[in-house]
Amino acid sequence: MSSPRSERLSRNLADVRRRIAAAAAEAGRRPDEIRLVAVTKYVDVAVTAALAACGQVDLGESRPQQLWLKAEAPELRDVRWHLIGHLQRNKTARTLPLAAWVHSGDSLRLLEELDAVGRGLDRPRVRTLLEVNLTGEAAKHGFAPAEVPPLCDALSSFASLDIAGLMGMSAAEDDAAAARRRFATLRELRDRLRRDWHGRFDLNELSMGMSHDFEAAILEGATLVRIGSALFEGLDAQGRA
Ligand SMILES: *Cc1c(COP(=O)(O)O)cnc(C)c1O
Repeated sequence: MSSPRSERLSRNLADVRRRIAAAAAEAGRRPDEIRLVAVTKYVDVAVTAALAACGQVDLGESRPQQLWLKAEAPELRDVRWHLIGHLQRNKTARTLPLAAWVHSGDSLRLLEELDAVGRGLDRPRVRTLLEVNLTGEAAKHGFAPAEVPPLCDALSSFASLDIAGLMGMSAAEDDAAAARRRFATLRELRDRLRRDWHGRFDLNELSMGMSHDFEAAILEGATLVRIGSALFEGLDAQGRA
């Protein structure tokens, strides 16, 4: 069942996994501490399925409607879905049953809504990350770093959410050194929360790093890297080489 498309996808995937392993080695970490979330927003259902067929289980979408479309496709039934982009509250009811992870917990009102929906579902708690706006850009979603420490009591009331860590992004104009400093800020915030919140949440997860900066993120402790374009290099949205 080998086609130029699947050959290209499996080669790209192997390259990305090799680079993840190399960055992990440089950081003195084990490669299995880092989960690759393949971001499939650039490609259609067929190409997404071809990537899943290469053995990639964790897939991410930034738009809820795209996640619905793909999560409901029969050929993508075995995928573990990650919502990585902004979720409007009126889309939580349809999204939550389909997503194993929500990386974009970007406001208290959204988290409240997710928790309310989650309480009505017979499923494991959704793993939820607090998105932190590391660049201060007004157009970006997420909590300002200073807004996060006071959230502890509110978060403790969300029984249907597993608050598992933090998510953040570098700025488009950052070079590798600047991106690394942003990621260090996120890790330091996580470490501080772990101390100040007295172990009420594990906060083991740091979702940071995309195609152009995931190595810097791994050096700073990323446990989830969200990688799209590097996996689809050489292919168009319909998977033509
Ligand atoms: C698109 C997207 C990614 C993947 O970006 P690439 O540069 O294509 O790897 C990661 N995270 C979020 C939130 C995205 O929207």
